[in-house]
Amino acid sequence: MTRMTARSGIGLASALALSLSLAAPQATATPTHAPFDDRGWHGQPQTMPKAPVMTGSGGAVASVDRDASQIGLDVLARGGNAADAAIATAAALGVTEPYSAGIGGGGFLVYYDAKAGKVTTIDGRETAPATFTPTTFTNPDGTPMNFAKAVSSGLSIGVPGTPALWDKAARELGTWRLAQLLLPAEQLARSGFTVDQTFADQTAANASRFSMFPETARIFLPGGAPPAVGSTFTNPDLARAYRELRTQGVQSLYAGPLGAAIVAEAQRPTTAPGVSVYPGQITTADLAAYRALTRSPIHSSYRGMDVYGMPVPSSGGIAVAEILELIEAYEAKTGQQVSHLPEVDYLHWFAEASATAFADRNRWVGDVPGVPVSELTSAGFAGERACLFDPLHAAARPIPFGSPDGSYTSCVPVGAAVGEGHQLESTTHLTVADRYGNVAAYTLTIEQTGGSGITVPGYGFLLNNELTDFNFAPLAAGVPDPNLPGPGKRPRSSMSPTIVLVDGMPVLALGSPGGATIITSVAQTLLGHLDRGLPLVEAIAAPRLSSRNGTSQAEPAIASGPLGAALRARGHTIAATAEIGAVTAIRILGPNSFEATAETTRRGGGSAMVVRPG
Ligand code: GLU
Repeated sequence: MTRMTARSGIGLASALALSLSLAAPQATATPTHAPFDDRGWHGQPQTMPKAPVMTGSGGAVASVDRDASQIGLDVLARGGNAADAAIATAAALGVTEPYSAGIGGGGFLVYYDAKAGKVTTIDGRETAPATFTPTTFTNPDGTPMNFAKAVSSGLSIGVPGTPALWDKAARELGTWRLAQLLLPAEQLARSGFTVDQTFADQTAANASRFSMFPETARIFLPGGAPPAVGSTFTNPDLARAYRELRTQGVQSLYAGPLGAAIVAEAQRPTTAPGVSVYPGQITTADLAAYRALTRSPIHSSYRGMDVYGMPVPSSGGIAVAEILELIEAYEAKTGQQVSHLPEVDYLHWFAEASATAFADRNRWVGDVPGVPVSELTSAGFAGERACLFDPLHAAARPIPFGSPDGSYTSCVPVGAAVGEGHQLESTTHLTVADRYGNVAAYTLTIEQTGGSGITVPGYGFLLNNELTDFNFAPLAAGVPDPNLPGPGKRPRSSMSPTIVLVDGMPVLALGSPGGATIITSVAQTLLGHLDRGLPLVEAIAAPRLSSRNGTSQAEPAIASGPLGAALRARGHTIAATAEIGAVTAIRILGPNSFEATAETTRRGGGSAMVVRPG
């Protein structure tokens, strides 16, 4: 990692200068011809190599996977907009990243709509059945259920939101029909993709769990073993599912045969001999009641830039905003600037801000009425929280939660110290920008890698285990927990698709997978690029630290080296973690000018593409 001496990230001054050079957005164009038909592609798309960074014009896509990015790029090249390309890319990820994303899961889209000149979001989060209660995940004696048993079970399966999000995004933000946008993914599922090391490793890591469910083993352990690296993996059943969605519409899932198949399998999972798992509770009525929802984004201001993120039921937008506010509050308190700090001080600040934000989100944020959003993201609250900050010593974990009540005069921690809940790591994030000025940041998931492990018979996709994102029992006795299960409730997420605007124009969009580490990966990438002067691809590649109010996680370059030692000397407890997150991002450099970026090595490296390089 080269630390740049000149500021080569956006930086405030250059971001402002950039915004002045951006022309007014063009109106979103509507293609005049159908770009795909049932026989396949029209025209010859330009094939792009797999690369972590690419600069050029015509539109940009960044995802973890080359095939998926290429499909999104082809949509852009044929005149589709960012919403169209995001849907097509996501559908392709359902094929090539089936353990992280797909129609059995959910996600969140943050979207800059150039025509409207504003950021909007769509919440496609999975939803609990109407029968859920705060004690659904507790044993009769009140103790939490065994987490691993709940994961690989029908009980963890929420009503999928991804097809509804695609449908809503295509109708309200896109310019093509959903039936067109799902065709490339259907074709990819049928013709297959080349198995890479990440797919083989993820399959192997799940092999014993997948073996519990014969249909899952049939699809993902062909011949009884994980597919070999370099082999072609086809999923004709999944092609059938996409075809059904294309020809019947998403009502096939929410009120038709595909939905009936989901409900039957979730309620009574088909297991291998001798295996029994918790039955699920979702019904056809739960599916019929599902809606993807338009929500106002979380908006905060950071150094004069406008940061837009995902609101509740995700905690991502709120927590990222609070971390950034805390960094500014620490600057006010110390008189130092984060851009000029030595690396160890920077990481210390970042760890303290992250842990504080997690203390507050764990107490205050969930799919409940009355979340104090504007207070949690306010400079006043951050100022009060910052008075606990010690530049040389880590606060004892867990840090007590604060009081976002609008009165910020106290320096006394008001709340109990609430620890962390479970959150496992899977998911995928894609970023798209088009030549019309629209930008999409879209994170989607089936929760754990491999989701519930349960495949819908005949349809080739895994069902989520998103409901394990609820806390199974209150995190601290006597402290209200906003993230307990409830009827029709959406479990709290950490997904943090984010778009940054300067003077009303988008300049940066990003997001990451990684469970609760999503929040820290997004915040660290923002700080690395906006404040620490790293080019975006280097801000993404920089070693990650994730401090979430318990033991911190850090990648080996931090945890096992001098930085880790220096942080431990300040009182941080750090566990080494091989990899944290998998960010994709796009810088909007000017009108129809983009830098698409992705990981250089994590998860085998990501895939950033532009329509016309150079
Ligand atoms: N279920 C997680 C969330 O919504 C995402 C899954 C993951 O990345 O592990 O925050």
